[in-house]
Amino acid sequence: MFRPRFCKSRFGMPVIVVGKFRFNRNNRSHGPRALWTCSRVSNGCRANIITIDDVIVKEKSIHNHT
Ligand SMILES: [Zn+2]
Repeated sequence: MFRPRFCKSRFGMPVIVVGKFRFNRNNRSHGPRALWTCSRVSNGCRANIITIDDVIVKEKSIHNHT
């Protein structure tokens, strides 16, 4: 398994990179808990990550793409 890395996109947005997959932070989340959705969410991918204080507490890494 790949180790998630916290990065910044070239637009300055926070992203989590897990191998070749990228997760974008959901801006609707407030407080320490954050939902990160796969960058292919618009293609129907349901993979996501939940963090609390930037610590990953839940990871659903089933992608509908490679
Ligand atoms: Zn995905």
